[in-house]
Amino acid sequence: MSEGRDSMKMLIQGQLEDAQGADVIRVANPATGDAVDTVPKGTREDARRAIDAAADAFKVWSEKPSIERSRVLLKTAELVRASVEDLGATLTMEQGKPLGEAKGEISSFANTCEYYAGLIGRERGAHNPFSTGEGFFIVTKRPLGVVGAILPWNFPVSLMGWKVAPGLAAGNTFVVKPASTTPITDIKVGSLMVKAGLTPGAVNVVTGPGAVVGEELLDNPKVAKIAFTGETGTGKRIMEGSAKSIKRLTLELGGSDPMIVCDDADIELAVEGAAWGRFRNCGQSCTSVKRLFLFESIAEQFVKMFAEKVRTIRIGNGMEKSTHMGPVHTAEQREKVESMVEDAENRGAKELVRGGRPAGNELSHGNFLSPVVLTGVDYDSKIAKEECFGPALPIFVVKDLDEALERANDTLYGLGSSVWTKDLEKAYHAAERIQAGTTWVNSPPIARAEVPFGGFKQSGFGRELGLEGLDHYYETKSIQVLEYSKGKKWAFPIN
Ligand code: NDP
Repeated sequence: MSEGRDSMKMLIQGQLEDAQGADVIRVANPATGDAVDTVPKGTREDARRAIDAAADAFKVWSEKPSIERSRVLLKTAELVRASVEDLGATLTMEQGKPLGEAKGEISSFANTCEYYAGLIGRERGAHNPFSTGEGFFIVTKRPLGVVGAILPWNFPVSLMGWKVAPGLAAGNTFVVKPASTTPITDIKVGSLMVKAGLTPGAVNVVTGPGAVVGEELLDNPKVAKIAFTGETGTGKRIMEGSAKSIKRLTLELGGSDPMIVCDDADIELAVEGAAWGRFRNCGQSCTSVKRLFLFESIAEQFVKMFAEKVRTIRIGNGMEKSTHMGPVHTAEQREKVESMVEDAENRGAKELVRGGRPAGNELSHGNFLSPVVLTGVDYDSKIAKEECFGPALPIFVVKDLDEALERANDTLYGLGSSVWTKDLEKAYHAAERIQAGTTWVNSPPIARAEVPFGGFKQSGFGRELGLEGLDHYYETKSIQVLEYSKGKKWAFPIN
């Protein structure tokens, strides 16, 4: 497989290919507006070719001994780690995040492959006698078949790993549909998987619009499951589309994570955690600090320290070593964030840290937006109710934990959350009452391969990562065996 132009084609059956038509998608650098490259604008026909390739590959890949599947995942991890500089730079250029973050994301893909390579073959089945004594049953797991992985642009590589690593480990095959604004690194990673010895067609990467390539994945009866990360509205469409052939679904949707800082918290730690947890990846993480609740007794001190901290965040091109925070991913996303801030201000909020588009020539062509911190925010503001996917944070002051929990749960979402206190009993009590898939205690959100991740309420369902992440790529198969000698229990007439 050659480098350069070839890597900007689609990956179908282990080959880099053009689309049926000549149309392309221009992938823009969010920091400069320049084209990073183009990728083919795939059609339904291209998606069908990839689905057929994945269905053929399933017959081979699912029959491989688990140790061989494990070996391919380990080799993938090795090749991905060896390419971290190139993959990281590509990711920064198409997504916008700082290079250090991008390289961390590439490493996390490798971690996920290694984690599932280690798990596969170690699962336990069940072999039990019937309670009536006439035989026994076995419970085994079977892979589902072809999976459509529909990816977002905020973590294009790690979220590909959350899907393909457990899915391949379990014996499934994939058609990956990257977000149209971040397809390049995913194609490169897919190509490395082929190089690592993956059965050709076991992972295909088809570029093209969600409304075309994504819809074909939903319509096609050969696709057994859709694993999706993205917006809640798109998730609803995916549920509808999947109903036609009763596809299995894992949906990781939006979030509006609360962070609760109690009066006995380590304030310095919490200030650092809030800044990192909100402004990492320019605030564009499904799980990140999106609403900050402070106990009133510490609010004044916290707000002062937090404002100072946020003012030190340096924005810039992610390729510069000194950059803490890159641009917003697209101009449209930036406008969405700005309109949420404007809505909050129209309802009385004040900018504790003033955001806005930074002046200065070198940043004027990118989608840059300085961090905004708002106080005095009305609970009916959009920024309090909806997912704010960018560098803006509303702060709310509460009198105690009961009020904090009530407010924290007053959302349609339930993805992540965090509680900051030195009292672990209090933390546990709070964690049990927060309606969210994960509660971090004294930490901003950090996903780990071994810990299941997913949402309550409209943040989706199913879990990725951990043992549960593997379970979602299996059907449970029960085999009941009757022992001849013990006689049959079924005959007409039924008495
Ligand atoms: P989307 O949910 O629209 O996109 C996610 C993926 O779904 C993309 O690959 C997209 O393709 C695909 N897609 C879009 N429409 C369909 C469809 N009808 N059938 C199948 N696949 C489809 O998110 P956006 O990129 O538009 O971002 C919008 C908002 O979503 C953000 O402002 C943010 O609030 C939220 N979001 C949340 C994420 C999270 O991790 N929770 C991640 C990303 C966004 P294509 O790119 O070609 O449109």
